[in-house]
Amino acid sequence: MKYDYLIVGAGLFGAVFAHEAAEKGRSCLVIDRRPYIGGNIYCEEIEGIQVHKYGAHIFHTSNKAVWDYINRFAEFNNYINSPVAVYKGELYNLPFNMNTFSRMWGIRTPEEAQKIIEDQRRKEQITEPKNLEEQALSLAGRDVYEKLIKGYTEKQWGRDCRELPSFIIKRLPFRFVYDNNYFNDRYQGIPIGGYTKIVDRLLKGIPVLCGTNYREYVKENPNAAAKTIYTGQIDEFFDYRLGVLEYRSVCFETKVLDCVNYQGNAVVNYTEREVPYTRVIEHKHFEFGKQPRTVVSWEYPGEWKKGDEPYYPINDEKNMKLYREYAKLAAERSDVIFGGRLGSYKYYDMDKVIEAALETADKELGT
Ligand code: UDP
Repeated sequence: MKYDYLIVGAGLFGAVFAHEAAEKGRSCLVIDRRPYIGGNIYCEEIEGIQVHKYGAHIFHTSNKAVWDYINRFAEFNNYINSPVAVYKGELYNLPFNMNTFSRMWGIRTPEEAQKIIEDQRRKEQITEPKNLEEQALSLAGRDVYEKLIKGYTEKQWGRDCRELPSFIIKRLPFRFVYDNNYFNDRYQGIPIGGYTKIVDRLLKGIPVLCGTNYREYVKENPNAAAKTIYTGQIDEFFDYRLGVLEYRSVCFETKVLDCVNYQGNAVVNYTEREVPYTRVIEHKHFEFGKQPRTVVSWEYPGEWKKGDEPYYPINDEKNMKLYREYAKLAAERSDVIFGGRLGSYKYYDMDKVIEAALETADKELGT
């Protein structure tokens, strides 16, 4: 065997694992079918601005070990995500906080807000939320649900809120202080110079073949490595023999605009069902950019079919049951380790991907 590890996918999981393996003296080859490294955190520089090609990524974590780890490969700025939501021309701060409630009901104190929400909650009579709609109603009441959650969620996921798991909405903070920070995490920021640089540094000194398809590569190089770290779609690895795991896709329309500041914020959400896009991203604001022009991406969620770019795993009951069957097949393969968003079929944040990759590396390589 030529290498100890063949790592399929040059995204965050693959790059962290490769880095750890190389540090421990193991030989690795990384391949990726895209023409560049980075996976979905790949950034392309346009007009001097780092454009998040596969959707906006904001790094946030409460895990100090992960924060210290990633800071070895990049310097982070002090960006704090504070999206604005537009609903039929009304503007609200996100996440759901006193600024949101004040604008919605013309009130000022937490007590007033709590009373309104409590009254609305009581009307719904939900004791144990069984789906996203019930979760949202019992957390925030009818007004917030109708204006800021229902339309956005249904267009984002292409499903009724009653058919979606409640954990999706649990990602969003809900608080009675005037605090627009979208995340509760201790550490947050955007890497100065973009995310691709992080992956590039992780992979320093490790051979990488971009534009390389796994299937074709192993056919031509059956003795490439003793073990494979596979970060592609787990069902594709097994030739979809048990069925196809579903994803939600997103399509980005990116434009260079001849103005300095288009929307005044990095992230603006459009929460009404009738607007076809969910978010508009103005990339320069992630880096407090002063460039003369600006780059803006409209994010359109869409149906996914086999062969399309997979973005969000749909972790509903049906798909999770199928995933567990694939995970059983995976467990039988001592020569392959599956990881990352696609290999684990998981709606993963970046810090959790790093955590998982480090854990896998520890288990596999010894501490
Ligand atoms: N969400 C919402 N309204 C918003 C923003 C988010 O209802 O304005 C819900 C929606 O269900 C979404 C989930 O919260 O899928 C998670 O949003 P987040 O921004 O964390 O998702 P991501 O950045 O991963 O797309």
